[in-house]
Amino acid sequence: MSVLAIDIGGTKLALAVVDSGGRLTTSVRIPTPHGDDVEAETIWRTLVTMVDRVLHSAGILSGELVGVGVGCGGPMSWPSGEVSPLNIPAWRGFPLRDRLVKRFPGVPVRLHNDAICVAVGEHWRGAGRGWDNVLGMVVSTGVGGGLILGGHLVDGASGNAGHIGHVVVDPEGPMCKCGGRGCLEAIARGPALAEWAVAQGWQGSGEPTAVNLAADAARGHPVACAAMRRAGRALGIAIASATHLCDLDVVCLGGGLSQAGPLLFDPLEEAFRAHARMDFAREVRVVPAALGQDAGMVGAAALVLAGERYWSAG
Ligand SMILES: [Zn+2]
Repeated sequence: MSVLAIDIGGTKLALAVVDSGGRLTTSVRIPTPHGDDVEAETIWRTLVTMVDRVLHSAGILSGELVGVGVGCGGPMSWPSGEVSPLNIPAWRGFPLRDRLVKRFPGVPVRLHNDAICVAVGEHWRGAGRGWDNVLGMVVSTGVGGGLILGGHLVDGASGNAGHIGHVVVDPEGPMCKCGGRGCLEAIARGPALAEWAVAQGWQGSGEPTAVNLAADAARGHPVACAAMRRAGRALGIAIASATHLCDLDVVCLGGGLSQAGPLLFDPLEEAFRAHARMDFAREVRVVPAALGQDAGMVGAAALVLAGERYWSAG
């Protein structure tokens, strides 16, 4: 039983053939076509070429697949799957699910937000495995998440439940791209963190990116360390709120910034302990995600392979 898993982001397209145990048997990864002259159909044709290539490498025919699972950057209309990824300007209302249904007739094609797929992947085969109530988070260019309660993915009214990036952690804080103020994402997304550090006088050894910021923090640079504390604190506050609201067992933290280790997790834990005061909330464990960059594809495959837990739509 093999599923085709597709993970579509602003920087890369990743595809894999995934077996029923959640293992990637074959995978390919390329940069997402970008530039002002890139058209919607160019990206689609690139994707189709990649699909043919990964199936060929795996030695299987389209007809042998039991389904197709897709994680894609938001926003999107769900479950119909017209996607308008923020970081892929050429796709606005692109009917991705319909296109894939035509390409793979007769098998389920299921599509969800990429951060939700990461949360599902971590619950199914990663750091959240064995727990019924898990918040999976991704902290990178944006901050996203997905929510599993009672062992099942919670979709919400429009497929957006678990979107912790826009939980407010500081009403007086910086403006957010959503139009609000003081959202977790406005503070903890990598680019916002690097921007804050630059404003505090940080001059990184390379580009002012979150990756370089984390590296400088590891070397003890005081502003870089303060930036990590700022992100950790915002995450801890948001996680404490989510924990009280959802009565969680585990929070899995993934994405680039989660690789920063104790520099991020210590202030996170401290802020979490300061704000999670109800007895049931204190029990929650915040752990690093386990599946790395494969999490999104494992989760996308789970939409098909473990649909009874992760797919509620038609
Ligand atoms: Zn926001």
